[in-house]
Amino acid sequence: MDVAMRIGVDIGGTKVSCALVGENKTILSKVSFDTGGGRPYTDVLHDVANSVYSVLDQTGYRLDDVEAIGLGCPGILDQQKGEVIYSNNIAWENVPLVKTLQKYVPKEIYVDNDANCAALGEYLCGASQGTSSSITVTLGTGVGGGIILGGRIHSGFNSAANAIGHMVIVSGGMPCTCGRKGCWESYASITALVRMAEEMAEQFPDSLLAEVKKRSGQFNGKNIFDAARQNDPTALKLLDQYYYFVSEGIIDLINVFQPQMIVIGGGISSEGDYLLLPIIANVKKGVYCKQVPLPQITIAKLNNDAGIIGAAYLKGYQATAVSQGI
Ligand SMILES: [Zn+2]
Repeated sequence: MDVAMRIGVDIGGTKVSCALVGENKTILSKVSFDTGGGRPYTDVLHDVANSVYSVLDQTGYRLDDVEAIGLGCPGILDQQKGEVIYSNNIAWENVPLVKTLQKYVPKEIYVDNDANCAALGEYLCGASQGTSSSITVTLGTGVGGGIILGGRIHSGFNSAANAIGHMVIVSGGMPCTCGRKGCWESYASITALVRMAEEMAEQFPDSLLAEVKKRSGQFNGKNIFDAARQNDPTALKLLDQYYYFVSEGIIDLINVFQPQMIVIGGGISSEGDYLLLPIIANVKKGVYCKQVPLPQITIAKLNNDAGIIGAAYLKGYQATAVSQGI
């Protein structure tokens, strides 16, 4: 019997994915379903339970062959109690994840924030594999982050330590959903990049950037980068500004944590070196301690699978978790 297998579940605002992860940390089978905004959590978790049995059925394994199950979910989670304290994305508050799921799936179950799971996935078999400390920064609708210190997820005393998108980088700046002004995610997320692109297109109506807006109807990360790659001065100016904002937050993270590696994930990470090299140049100039080598800054490797693999391996990699017995 191979009990080294794990099951990882990634609960997102729009989609839930569940996968059976083999001993070598590869996905053996995977199913997904729509979260269905506004459904009672009991319904969603009932579907999660069905997905667990379905990934086992697809491969011919049984629940006994699985060592542990892990759930990743956006928001603030209590790892010890196995509960969602608050999740803005799925509108859950005080949801007893583990207790509810264990009614259908009698197994050890672990929970953590989805960005922590993604960081753990990258650490276990992605970009930051082999490092002792790393921070995975996800540039998406918001700015998410997962901090790995000494091979464990750093969650802080109240399990809420990874809100890196809410460091203020512009005092009195753009209002943020958290209530403060000038948070990093209001300047470094794709949402922010699109907002800034719209402002620039309006300011420079003859630019290629403005033309892209007219042609495509709306900006997304990719068409902004495409305009810059065609050397549109307006798009280049915009990206310079965006790189500056992204770099400011990374410099803060390096100054505080001095991790061995910063991993950049999210949709625009597919821009590769075009995104990475200007950021590295800014960060190099800005970090406090210039006498030591700059932590490596690199692009995430696992994309969407990072969260699922990280969730599957929560057992043993959380700094504060206690066993969620049956
Ligand atoms: Zn904020």
